[in-house]
Amino acid sequence: MGGAVDAQCEICGYERRSVTVGCGFDPNHFWWPALCRVCREVVAVDVRAAAGVCEQCGSSDVVLYSDASLRGEPGKRRLFPEWTLDAAVAADLDDGSYLCPVCEKLGLRFGDAGLLWD
Ligand SMILES: [Zn+2]
Ligand SMILES: [Zn+2]
Repeated sequence: MGGAVDAQCEICGYERRSVTVGCGFDPNHFWWPALCRVCREVVAVDVRAAAGVCEQCGSSDVVLYSDASLRGEPGKRRLFPEWTLDAAVAADLDDGSYLCPVCEKLGLRFGDAGLLWD
């Protein structure tokens, strides 16, 4: 099962729409939002690939948005049910704050963009 999230920074206004999350028909892929330090963008990374790389620039200088180093204030509501998670993704996304790739402050928030597919 998969879907997409929107990311928006409440400090600098950075916005990224419809970042792919989860897996589709092909069980060899599981996409999760990550911060790419090269693009300075929220990108989707395939955590089931041998080396998780940025979908845009191919760099491996990416940090998944489940890593504690990107965590701001913890949220109250999870964005996805637990069973959708891959073992490689340690923590779910929630409605708390995360590190913004542009202003590098903890103002980034994710919202469910709907668009569920499986
Ligand atoms: Zn920002
Ligand atoms: Zn990149």
